[in-house]
Amino acid sequence: MTSQTGAGRFAPSPSGDLHIGNIRSGLLAYVRARQTGRQFLWRIEDLDRAKTGAGQSQLEVFADLGVTPDEPPLVQSERLGVYNEALNRLDGQGLVYECYCSRKDIQQAPSAPHSPPGAYPGTCRDLPESARERHRQRLEEQGRSPALRLRTDNAEITVHDRLLGDITAPVDDLVLKRGDGVFAYNLIVIVDDGASGVDEVVRGDDLVTSAPRQAHLAHLLGLPQPSWLHVPLVVNTAGKRLAKRDGAVTYQQLRNLGWTRQDVYAWMGDSLGLAGSEGSWSCIDDMVAGVDFDRLVSKETVFVPPAGADG
Ligand code: GLU
Repeated sequence: MTSQTGAGRFAPSPSGDLHIGNIRSGLLAYVRARQTGRQFLWRIEDLDRAKTGAGQSQLEVFADLGVTPDEPPLVQSERLGVYNEALNRLDGQGLVYECYCSRKDIQQAPSAPHSPPGAYPGTCRDLPESARERHRQRLEEQGRSPALRLRTDNAEITVHDRLLGDITAPVDDLVLKRGDGVFAYNLIVIVDDGASGVDEVVRGDDLVTSAPRQAHLAHLLGLPQPSWLHVPLVVNTAGKRLAKRDGAVTYQQLRNLGWTRQDVYAWMGDSLGLAGSEGSWSCIDDMVAGVDFDRLVSKETVFVPPAGADG
C-alpha cells in the first residue's frame, strides 16, 4: 500500500539471527503499519555489534514470513554525515560538551545534588579549558578520545505510549558520540526516524525508557516527535528476556526442528492471546486481520523452546 500518512519501521541491530521475540516485535510493527495505512520501513542499525551478513539474513527471514519493507532499508553506516550534521546543530546551540570519564570514573563519582539516580554526575560538564586540555592529553596518552555529551538540566520528560500510557523519565546528559567515535543510539534513532517520516514507533518495551530521551532530542533538533507503542517482550522460563542461549529460538533453528511458517504464526496468535475463536493464524494476513491493538495487554510471554534444540 502506498501512503502519504507517515510510516512505521523495524530497526533491528544486525548482531546475529533474530529470535522469536524480536520477530514478534517486528511483525507487530508491520501489522500496525498495515492497519493504519502507514508505510513499513526497515533500518539496519549497524554502527555497533554488526555481524557480516546478519542484516540481510534478518530481511530474508521476514521475506520468508511474507513481510517486505516498502522501501530499500536505510543503513546507518552510510549516514555518518547526517549524524554529524545533527551533532553540529546541537553544538551550535551550546549543548555539546566533551566528557573524559571512564565508566569507572562515573560509577565512583559522587552523584550531583538533585540529580536522578544513575544520571551522569556532571563531572566534565563545566570544566575550564585548561582542565579540558589536560584531560585530552591524558586520554590521548591512553589511546582514547573524549565522548560527547548533551547538556541537559536533568528535567523529567513525559511521552505518551499507546499501550503503556504516560512514560516519565529524567533526561540526563546522555552520550551523543562515544569515546570510540561511534554515534550513540538515541541520537541516530531519532535523526533517522525524522528523516524517514516515521511518525509511529512500534518496538519492544525494553526500549521504553529511551523514548523520553529521544523526544527531548527530537525537540532540540526541530524534528517531529513520533508517537510510541512499546510491545511486551518474550521471555525465557526464568522470566528473563529471551536470548539465543535459551535454545532453539531463532527462525532457522525452529524451522530446522520442523516448525512451519504456519506454526510461527499460530504461535504469534497464541502468545498474543489474540487469535481467538477465528481459529489459529497461519500467515501474515491473518495476523494483520487478527491483531487488535486495543486488546493487546502489556504482559510478557514465556517462550519454551521445543525439545531437540540445536542452539
Ligand atoms: N536497534 C535497536 C535494537 O535492536 C532497536 C532500535 C529501535 O527500535 O529504536 O534493539
